[in-house]
Amino acid sequence: MGLNVIMMGPPGAGKGTQAGRFARERGLLKISTGDILREAIREKNLVALAAKARMDRGELVDDATMIAIVKDRLMRPDAERGFVLDGFPRTVAQAQALDQIMSERNNGPLIVVDVEVPQHELVRRLAMRRICVKCGNNADPFGGADTCPKCGGSLEQRTDDNQYVVLERLNVHGRATTPVLDYYRERPTFRVVNGAQSPDRVAHELDAMIDDAAAAKVGL
Ligand SMILES: [Zn+2]
Repeated sequence: MGLNVIMMGPPGAGKGTQAGRFARERGLLKISTGDILREAIREKNLVALAAKARMDRGELVDDATMIAIVKDRLMRPDAERGFVLDGFPRTVAQAQALDQIMSERNNGPLIVVDVEVPQHELVRRLAMRRICVKCGNNADPFGGADTCPKCGGSLEQRTDDNQYVVLERLNVHGRATTPVLDYYRERPTFRVVNGAQSPDRVAHELDAMIDDAAAAKVGL
């Protein structure tokens, strides 16, 4: 049976890092919507190309398109061991469609982890975030590096990361994802991890709660 995980959480919570680590350690497919969109565009997938055209005009990618692209990816053989989804679902309609996909796959339950971090801590983290001027890499704010670990370029604070912009981004994210979290909250496979701890501590707790959720579901 597959280990199927959704990682939720606001920008700055570290969920992307945790999602990548967990997928690597467990040999699961890591799926971020940005990545699969780019991959689908490389493969000249017509739906993805239409989505790209929309994004190039500054528009959002609609639910139906996002769902079609995620479904296509989840149905492939390399997703059979399971997956870690980062950045999807973003709407209740996407969450409902994902349930439908899961019942078609019939390959293990969906485990949902919400990485929670208090707002003042997120503001602090996001305001500290630096970006490489050469390659655009986001530097670990706690890494203490003076130059980009990927390419050696110099790091500068993101201009959009002032406090007001950060708060607005968090509010937009909260308004969008609260209904999705509520959609999952009552499930026996829903878990919350305290993301305000050290990344190692978060990783440790995350692993334990995902295993616990998987075992509990199997035991039913
Ligand atoms: Zn760089």
